[in-house]
This record gives sequence, structure tokens and C-alpha cells, in this order.
Amino acid sequence: MRYLEPHAHMVSRVTDDYQDMVTAGCMAVCEPAFWAGYDRSSVAGFHDYFCQLTDYEPRRAAKFGLPHYCWLCLNPKESEDVVFAQEVLAILPGFLGRPNVLGIGEIGLNKNSRNELKVLEQHVDLAARHQQLILVHTPHLEDKHKGTRLTLDVLRADSRIRPERVIIDHVEEHTVQMVLDAGFWAGMTLYPETKCTPARAIDILDRYGPERLWLNSACDWGVSVPLIVPRTGLEMRRRGHRPEAVDRVLYQNPVEFLSQCPKFKLS
Ligand SMILES: [Zn+2]
Repeated sequence: MRYLEPHAHMVSRVTDDYQDMVTAGCMAVCEPAFWAGYDRSSVAGFHDYFCQLTDYEPRRAAKFGLPHYCWLCLNPKESEDVVFAQEVLAILPGFLGRPNVLGIGEIGLNKNSRNELKVLEQHVDLAARHQQLILVHTPHLEDKHKGTRLTLDVLRADSRIRPERVIIDHVEEHTVQMVLDAGFWAGMTLYPETKCTPARAIDILDRYGPERLWLNSACDWGVSVPLIVPRTGLEMRRRGHRPEAVDRVLYQNPVEFLSQCPKFKLS
């Protein structure tokens, strides 16, 4: 089985995870910028993090023969202070030209606050001005439906944004349809308990078909499973999906979306 891991926070994983992913057939890993588990206290903290994602982490992955790509942004959890957010956004364009940067992400909303919305709009503007792909994080549980709707409103209000160049991640049963209907891509994040379990994700695939959908583990410092994407591929096979259908969702779909960025190449 070959697969792509389009959303993984490798800075919080050990090198054994890289080895396991390559052994399981991973062809590339993509790492969106996110919260560090604590709020960074300065712009310099973000500068160092962006260097880690564009320099150190790709070199660590390369030791295991795995291409590493990333997405850059100020994450929603830290966008409450709009002045600070603007300072971080000001250094971001300086990193967009680095060879493993795919676009702006994971931006979005956490608590659906007014300030988060303001910073989301600024990120969307930045992506439009620099012709970047966009990866969107959607809020958890009770905030998800409203947060997804608000995010789609922001994206649709900007006429420069083409929906086929945006992926809305962490969709669930109650949000996937509005994302796909609006022409965006949708990501299903496989967590052992919260977000989507493999069984629920396969139910969604059975209901909506594979078009514009991908799977990811979002593995980070919390309870998460770096190999849950290939394991879901095995579960698809067990439930009667053909090998080509598994390959489409686990490999071809993410390659199709990510190849819209000319920097994304598989050897
Ligand atoms: Zn994430």
C-alpha cells in the first residue's frame, strides 16, 4: 500500500514514527503550522518554529527517505491578540519561497471569536496575494458546524479564492456536505476517539464517494496514531473496497490536490 500523510505534526513525534511511516508505504508527509502546546511569547518564537518546519524537520525526514512539506501560518489558538498576529503575519512572506512550503495553513477558527475571524481574513488575503494553497482547521465538537459555516463565508467573500485550491480539514458527518457542495476539498482527521474514527470516515466515504476527500492522522503531542491512515486503508479493504479505491483516497487524491503547488513533487 502506498499513501500520503497530508497532515501530521512531526515536530512532536519521535524518529521511530518516521521509520514506521516509511515502512508502511508513506510517500510524503506534510506538516501544517500549529499550536506548540503553549502560547509563544514573541515573534522570534514563530520565526524559530518556521525555521524548524522549513529547515530542520525536512532534513530529519530525509534521513528516512521521506519528502517533508509544510504549511505556514499563525494558528487560530494564538490569533486572539491581533497586534501580535500582525507582527507574525509580517514575517511570514519571507518564508513562503522556501522549497518545502506548500501554502498557508492550518488557519481557521478555534472559538469562533471576532478576533479569530479578523486574523483568518488576513491570512486569506495573504494567501490570495501570494497565490498560495490554503489548509483550514475547523473547531472541535460544539463549535464545528458554526465555525465551518463562518470559515466558508470568509473564503467565499474573497473573489480571488478558488475553492479547488482550499482544503477544509477535520470535517465530520455534519460538516462534510456543506464543504463539498461549495466546491472545496475536505479532509477527514482520523483520531482513535475524537474527530473521525476510521469506521466513521469509511461510512462518510461510502455515503459521499471519494471525490475531493482525503484522510490524515494529524498526529501531534496528544492522543493520536501516526499510522492510522494506512490502518484505515486496511479497514477499507476489509469492508470490501477495491485496492484501486483505497489507492485513490490514500494516495491519488492528496497528490492531485497538493500538485496544484508546483513545489510538490514525488520522486
Ligand atoms: Zn493539525
